[in-house]
Amino acid sequence: MKKRNLSTQLSSGFAAIVFIVIALISVSANLLIRSRFEAYMESEQIRLAGELADELANQYDAEAASWNTDYIHGMGMYAVNDGYFIKVLDIQKNVIWDIEQHDMACCKEVMNKISSDMERLRNANGSFVSHEYPMYHGQTLIGYAEIMYYTPYYANENAFSFLYSLNIILVVIGIVSIVGAVITGLIFARRITSPVSRVISRTRRIAGGDYSTADDNNAGSAEMQELSQAVTAMAQTLDRQEKLRARLTGDVAHELRTPLTNIASHLEMMCEGIWEPTPERLTGCYEEIQRISGLVDDMEKLHRIDADQLVLHKSSFVVRPLLENTAAMFEREIADKNITLEINCDDISVNADHDRIAQVVTNLLSNAVKYTENSGHITVTAERDDSSFRLTVRDTGIGITPEDLPHVFERFYRADRSRNRRTGGSGVGLAVVKAIINAHGGSVCVQSEIGKGSVFIAEIPQ
Ligand code: ADP
Repeated sequence: MKKRNLSTQLSSGFAAIVFIVIALISVSANLLIRSRFEAYMESEQIRLAGELADELANQYDAEAASWNTDYIHGMGMYAVNDGYFIKVLDIQKNVIWDIEQHDMACCKEVMNKISSDMERLRNANGSFVSHEYPMYHGQTLIGYAEIMYYTPYYANENAFSFLYSLNIILVVIGIVSIVGAVITGLIFARRITSPVSRVISRTRRIAGGDYSTADDNNAGSAEMQELSQAVTAMAQTLDRQEKLRARLTGDVAHELRTPLTNIASHLEMMCEGIWEPTPERLTGCYEEIQRISGLVDDMEKLHRIDADQLVLHKSSFVVRPLLENTAAMFEREIADKNITLEINCDDISVNADHDRIAQVVTNLLSNAVKYTENSGHITVTAERDDSSFRLTVRDTGIGITPEDLPHVFERFYRADRSRNRRTGGSGVGLAVVKAIINAHGGSVCVQSEIGKGSVFIAEIPQ
């Protein structure tokens, strides 16, 4: 199924959120305003009816014991327009003035109009209810005012149009906000998608074998910046791996061709009877075969690590014998080069894979011996505390250049290739060391200075 692009998703998401928020605000504001409006109109109607009753009471002339019916008539006719239908009675409940008796037709007409207006505007039914107000002159009861009005309340068209205009304002705000949300969503989406698109095109170029890609300086956000840097780092690693692979093919071909040519030419001469098969010549052939076999061994070790076959058989063992036995293997070369070897190791035990750790010591010591000139000095130190075991191999050899230093643990990496071919290394030893130490959950590092020597430190947790 085709996925919608980020711009559409973001802008429609923004619009949906704004729509929901505005709809909630509109509905709740509408309900609240309407209920407050109705409560206000009801209380206002009751207050006005009370005021009318008071005003009617004032039309009683106590001295003459009579009512000012002219004024009551004026008030009554005027009040009809506001929806109040007045009847004035004396204390014996005799009618003094009654709007219905006075102008029945007008009354009916106004009442019908109020009923139909309110049904239309309020969408609900109401009814006319008559309320009786006793009227006093001082403390003396002088009569009753019966005032009839529409309940729950009567409001004219102007009052309702105020409510409608509030709704229209909310709708306009809603439309403007949704349009704003869509535009903001598009702008945001553009800011997010353009660096994403650039990363996509960079990864496509990398997939096509073009590793010459640089960081995106216009990434827009910290996360995109990190993604861009991760892509660059990935490209650099792939580039290095590709070069290593290419170099490996050349190296392996060269490493194999030289001894094989030597062996072939030696054997040919001996087969044709030109050379005697003397022990020296046969030993020469044997050494060449040993070199080939060493290279194949290295490649096999790497293959096992690659295939994740580095299964550890951990046990607790004393470290000193392991160091001494490994050092003994290099006794002849150490003596030949007049190197002094110092082993610093207290009576400590370590919990690790004995054979793998022996391999680590062998590889580090073999390098130290290989890359240390005559009369140099090598120190092997093993220490441990409660939480870790640390092995340090220090030599006063030729050292490693700062350019090579970050790469020496990579497989098939050889610092000085022409020199290394002579010394016979294939650039696998340190990669194996790193894989073994990492499998123990530890880490290995190197410090080195050209002409002064190198220090390799391997540390594994206990
Ligand atoms: P190699 O079999 O070539 O020695 P390694 O993986 O053991 O392969 O080492 C990688 C490279 O690191 C070597 O080719 C060498 O250039 C450099 N190196 C390793 N150990 C030392 C050391 N002790 N002194 C100087 N250079 C070293």
